[in-house]
Amino acid sequence: MILNKKILAAAFALILAGPAGAAGRPRVVATFSLLGDWVRAVGGSDVDLNVLVGPGGDSHTYEPSPSDGRALAEADIVVEIGLGFEPWMDRLMIASGGRARQVRVTEGMPLRDAEGRRLAGAPGRGVNVDPHVWGDPTNTASAVEAIRAALCAADPSHSEDYGRRARAYQAELASLDGWIRDRVASVPADRRVLVTTHDTLGYWADRYGFRVVDTVFSTAGAESADPSASQLARLSDDIRARGVPAVFIENVTNPAVSRAVAKAAGVRTAPPLFTDALGPKGSPGETYLEMMRYNAQVIAEALK
Ligand SMILES: [Zn+2]
Repeated sequence: MILNKKILAAAFALILAGPAGAAGRPRVVATFSLLGDWVRAVGGSDVDLNVLVGPGGDSHTYEPSPSDGRALAEADIVVEIGLGFEPWMDRLMIASGGRARQVRVTEGMPLRDAEGRRLAGAPGRGVNVDPHVWGDPTNTASAVEAIRAALCAADPSHSEDYGRRARAYQAELASLDGWIRDRVASVPADRRVLVTTHDTLGYWADRYGFRVVDTVFSTAGAESADPSASQLARLSDDIRARGVPAVFIENVTNPAVSRAVAKAAGVRTAPPLFTDALGPKGSPGETYLEMMRYNAQVIAEALK
């Protein structure tokens, strides 16, 4: 009986609070740190933001906690990449019983598959789409627009603020794009080759005229599968044969295997790039804008 009264009181409180939460702010869940950064840039203090996979976390292999389910159950808006980047997300959403509006920021973006082929229109079933769209700041600008539209729909009273912040951030993205282009301009054409831990830099490479020639762990579908000793030996032979200057490691993955490959190939390992997650506070990857500048610097320096 007491329990029933509690449930009734909770339901009544929810009705009173309405869809935008007790403080009137839209409750937004972002699946990982980069999306959280963009939601913060557009929403400022007008949104109540909860980020599931934080700085340094690997969204591909993340294991959700019970508190993630609770956050989803209470959310008004869930912002995600989709395309298999958060493979745990759909099940968690259903289990949470939440009714949040799901915003997949990659909808309508120009996408590439895992082999780097441009896809025309929405990806068909069974196509292995490369989800790492944020390597290209023009994709980020389109994600920011999707976030702005969702916030405006949920909270029209702050539409002007969301619009103003989105435009300001998009201007920063445009100058970031130019800055990266200038920064990597000095890398000669025959050294514009990338070997990374996993296939995270495809969109970046397409945008700035580089090629990802090898990854230590292949394709988004099997990123946690360890390569065999003979695969690693072939990889280091290939690096030597192609004259690849350096191997790049990442903040979200263990660098041990990539370091071993680089050593076997006789090339150096560049300082870790911020790839699928922001870095901790105080690091050069604290925000998306900083992480992108830092990565371009590391790449330009390692390949010059
Ligand atoms: Zn990834």
